[in-house]
Amino acid sequence: MGESKRAEKILVAVAWPYASGPRHIGHVAGFGVPSDIFARYHRLKGNDVLMVSGTDEHGTPVMVAAEQEGLSPRELADRYNEVIRDDLRRLGLSYDIFTRTTTQNHYRVVRDVFRTLHEKGYIVEHTAMGAFSATTGHTLPDRYIEGTCPHCGYREARGDQCDNCGRQLDPIDLVGPRSRIDGTAPVFKETSHLFLDLPAFADALREWIDKQAHWRTNVRRFSLNLLDELIPRAITRDLDWGVPIPVEGYDGDESGKRIYVWFDAVIGYLSSTVEWAAARGTPDAWRDWWQNPDSRHYYFMGKDNIVFHTVIWPSMLLGYGEGGEIGAGKGKLGLPYDVVASEFLTMEGRKFSSSRGVVIYVKDFLERYDADSLRYFLTIAGPESQDTDFTWAEFARRNNDELVATWGNLVNRTLKNVHRHFGEVPAPGQLSDADEQILAAIEAGLASVGGEIENARFKAGLTEAMRLATLANQYVSEQAPWKLIESDRERAATILYVALRCVDNLKLFLTPFLPFSSQALHELLGYSDDIAAKIEFVEHAEEGDSHLVLTGQYESLRGRWRASELPVGQKLLEPEPLFRKLDPEAVVAEELQRMEETAAGGAD
Ligand SMILES: [Zn+2]
Repeated sequence: MGESKRAEKILVAVAWPYASGPRHIGHVAGFGVPSDIFARYHRLKGNDVLMVSGTDEHGTPVMVAAEQEGLSPRELADRYNEVIRDDLRRLGLSYDIFTRTTTQNHYRVVRDVFRTLHEKGYIVEHTAMGAFSATTGHTLPDRYIEGTCPHCGYREARGDQCDNCGRQLDPIDLVGPRSRIDGTAPVFKETSHLFLDLPAFADALREWIDKQAHWRTNVRRFSLNLLDELIPRAITRDLDWGVPIPVEGYDGDESGKRIYVWFDAVIGYLSSTVEWAAARGTPDAWRDWWQNPDSRHYYFMGKDNIVFHTVIWPSMLLGYGEGGEIGAGKGKLGLPYDVVASEFLTMEGRKFSSSRGVVIYVKDFLERYDADSLRYFLTIAGPESQDTDFTWAEFARRNNDELVATWGNLVNRTLKNVHRHFGEVPAPGQLSDADEQILAAIEAGLASVGGEIENARFKAGLTEAMRLATLANQYVSEQAPWKLIESDRERAATILYVALRCVDNLKLFLTPFLPFSSQALHELLGYSDDIAAKIEFVEHAEEGDSHLVLTGQYESLRGRWRASELPVGQKLLEPEPLFRKLDPEAVVAEELQRMEETAAGGAD
């Protein structure tokens, strides 16, 4: 079924979390969980999926955090790469490769892209005013300078970008600039840097973006607006932590310059694919993804990163053309097919802030609650299309009233009755109209839930799956098979068979959203294989070095998005509840207390 259609190649390119500290749930709400739902669904659908990302480990925030913790930048990156990849594994994010930007492979790919753009004349040198700390004389990174946005008047604009109007800035543009580290006004001095000549790509970008009618309106309009004011963008920095610059006079330690972190991080989408291909012993396999016009690239990120994915990275891809050492004249690199940008999550009505204690780290969350409860909340009530607020009361309510009361209850009473009275999937008698109707209604979810996920409407997809679970629950309540066990065992068997088929289908629809409980249910239903896949760490060795990547075996999941064929006679395991009910008052009291204590301790 559905096998006649050729598998599509879908690259799921997920924003690279920054390795300067542990990630909080706001970080994974926007792009982590949505990208995983998308990847899992497409695998089940039978498509060829490659989901790539890694930790972004260069730049000044890592240097500043390292200094505070008394570590070298590399040691700090090692520490948080480990923390972050462990968080992502426990959250069930099914990367094909989650790597890091400090690998030799990444350096090689980044330098090749840089060198090629330079050779083709897309990188130009400018002498610019650089910001230096008045106190230490060191370079003061853009993100550590704050002031008033010259465009919109927002008072807390950063040196690289205004979070209010979204425009890119240079520190010198800010009105009343000040250091975020010590509040002093920065000193501006002349320093020469290399710039990406973005205006050279304006026409090509406009022509391309004009054709992307399937993009979300806000992403497309925002990107087109940016084209009117493109300026060359600095891609080097006065730093000693980053990828060395492959241009004479800039290479080597004595230059005191490195490639700017944002330039190297976006290349991670490409370099991680190259790493993945090499690790499987098929070093050219990355070309099927990047130099193949039929491969579709979906990018997932927070809205503050749209510019990098619709303007800057596409410019780099256009400029690189057929390459370069890596591209080797074997085809142009693919541009983004879709850019799925999420809005922001706030916490109890406030912006996430580690220093003010308004924070909940993924690791801490998963120590106290189940990953699927978090995934459920972030999908059904997360910041998919508007800023949303996380509250503990709402988290507990949704867990109890929706996951436990609707889906958990349907599974629990169906499986309990079957297990107690039959022990296996019972053979049905003649199906009634009501039986046929509910089976057809649930199976329609293959198209309706799937369609929403394909359009990156994850909240709508999950809402539809839960609506179907409510229908199945109503069917079971109306038919009340437990009342018929003694008087009409055949009819009871038929109803329970139909209910099990509904549960089996709903399990499939929910697998992209809730992989852990879906796998557990899969096993309770007597299946012995995987529906959700194991995610594991694998070591990748390089010359004199090695690192762990997050990956998994997903091949067996392919093509499973089809109606339940639950075999009669399959033995069921002893049922166990899929979800834990929470005590809302206790959760709220305990967690708010914890936040107060963190805020009071508030050093970090
Ligand atoms: Zn602004």
